[in-house]
Amino acid sequence: MSDLLQRFSFQGLPVRGAVARLNQTWLAVRHRNPVPMPAQELLGQALAASALLSSDLKIRARVGLQLQGEGPLKLLLAQCASDGGQRGIARCPAELSGSEDFSALTRASTLVISIDGTQTDQNYQGIVPLEGNTLAAALEGYFRRSEQLATGIWLVADHEKAAGLLIQRLPGHHEYPESWEELCALAGTLTLEELLSLEALPLLGRLFPEHTILDGGSVPLEFACQCSRDKVVEVLRVLGRDALTDDLRQHREVTVDCEFCNERYGFDAVDIDHLFAGQAS
Ligand SMILES: [Zn+2]
Repeated sequence: MSDLLQRFSFQGLPVRGAVARLNQTWLAVRHRNPVPMPAQELLGQALAASALLSSDLKIRARVGLQLQGEGPLKLLLAQCASDGGQRGIARCPAELSGSEDFSALTRASTLVISIDGTQTDQNYQGIVPLEGNTLAAALEGYFRRSEQLATGIWLVADHEKAAGLLIQRLPGHHEYPESWEELCALAGTLTLEELLSLEALPLLGRLFPEHTILDGGSVPLEFACQCSRDKVVEVLRVLGRDALTDDLRQHREVTVDCEFCNERYGFDAVDIDHLFAGQAS
């Protein structure tokens, strides 16, 4: 199975959609961020969801889906760039009982949807209280309230695969309400097993046999981290030389680990000197 985001629309209806299927991408994120069930399942679903959210990007950008709250799951972040590069992290205790449901896991969480464009004037952030009994329901609610867009979302993840389906009424189109209801009802017959196992186009054929599906193009998905030594240098410069002196004295180097990909960046005394050369410390 290849990791893919497939866009589609329905001929004659103002409805677009996307299917995301992840295998190697999900494994790469999961291995770098080992968290217990059911947080792991939620991380996989969030990763699939971030790919679905990226399906409507009109610019080169990165979509972020973040939950931050007071439940055992302190932080969940999944990102997908318009080129299909994905990464994600979850922060929770090393052990969970395993029986926490979505509401307990994400108690008092806020949901943040962000779009970071390659140019600074293209950034967007929507922040709402997390509502709903599943991540899919929370995202549907977000689109309904914040964007006034009727949206149906289905998400699933197991240890190896993560997948999602999104259908959305195009902005400004409220005609054919019965067709929208029909599409939602048809999509609702989808089993999570089918969503995990079927390739995108056969899946759509199975769900919507009476409709003509228009192929909107696909993007390969893969694990990709945007961290770099240059970005770490920027952060260290902001921290200032004084903040680094203790680390340097104790460990003879300053190390920074990327929390997404675990890449370690090390700076010894000579590096640090270079970094602050010409700056008043
Ligand atoms: Zn990284």
